[in-house]
Amino acid sequence: MSFSRSLLAILALIATLTAAPLALAAEVVVYSVRNEQLIKPLFDAYTRETGVPVKFVTDKEGPLMARLKAEGRNTPADLFITVDAGNLWQAAQEDLLRPVNSKVLQANIPAHLRDPGNEWFGLSVRARTLVYNKNKVKPADLSSYEELANPKWKGRLCLRSAKKVYNQSLVAMLIHEHGEDKAERIVRGWVTNLATDPLPDDTKALEAVAAGLCDVTLVNTYYYGRLMEKQPNLPLAIFWPNQNLKDRNAGVHVNVSGAGVTRHAKNEKEAVRLLEWLSSDKAQNLYADVNLEYPVKSDVRWDPAVAAWGRFKSNLINVSQAGALQTKAVMLMDRAGYK
Ligand code: FE
Repeated sequence: MSFSRSLLAILALIATLTAAPLALAAEVVVYSVRNEQLIKPLFDAYTRETGVPVKFVTDKEGPLMARLKAEGRNTPADLFITVDAGNLWQAAQEDLLRPVNSKVLQANIPAHLRDPGNEWFGLSVRARTLVYNKNKVKPADLSSYEELANPKWKGRLCLRSAKKVYNQSLVAMLIHEHGEDKAERIVRGWVTNLATDPLPDDTKALEAVAAGLCDVTLVNTYYYGRLMEKQPNLPLAIFWPNQNLKDRNAGVHVNVSGAGVTRHAKNEKEAVRLLEWLSSDKAQNLYADVNLEYPVKSDVRWDPAVAAWGRFKSNLINVSQAGALQTKAVMLMDRAGYK
């Protein structure tokens, strides 16, 4: 081999060695419980803006968390996106996430919508509220989650199954506010008032109210939004509960969908950059609007369909309590006969 040829070979080798890590650095891998149709438009926008490709895998929270755990330090995932603070809390508890100290995230996301230990951050807000049948209930008849335990609602309430994390998180918040004894009395009251067995999902609960099987239910507003988009003439309306109490913690039960950087992220820098971008004004609208949710960033405008439901005061208890009290909530619901 001539001198110049061996020099070329060395240069080529150096180029390969230096180019490879750079190519790796400019990509971020996401495991997402939020489904493809909700996140792909967002990642496409991010790639257009930054040139950084986003690879992603979507699945339910159970399989994705099991996969992160099984892969351990070999995981390709840099960022984990999931729904419900209860699930985010669980991921942190199982050491699947790492803390991120970011001034951008702290400025964009209100403190009650992120992990006090900075391992996960809310990216959209979901409000779990009351929806009633307009032909059978006047808004003045409604007031709070707690009041749905009153005997006046006997045979008039529909609830989603206790197996889904949404009502577990709601009950966790009731425990936080009232203590276990009072929370259990409330949940027992709900069960006594049920018109029918708990329903498999929020949409089924709404349809039962619309059909007159029951008068009122508890759902995340985006399910109401989706159903009303398809069937605008259903006799359903939203009611914002717990708005008139003097208690600092009064307000509508809110939860988040959110994300955290994985414990074994290869690409922490890119993961944080994507997470910060997701909390920016532009991304907040893309992230929240596509599922008729609320942005976490307070000055971001709401989707017009969402804004039409009106403003409300939300409960300011840190959403991590939904996780911390989840086991107690599940046991309480079981004791109360809520299936
Ligand atoms: Fe949902």
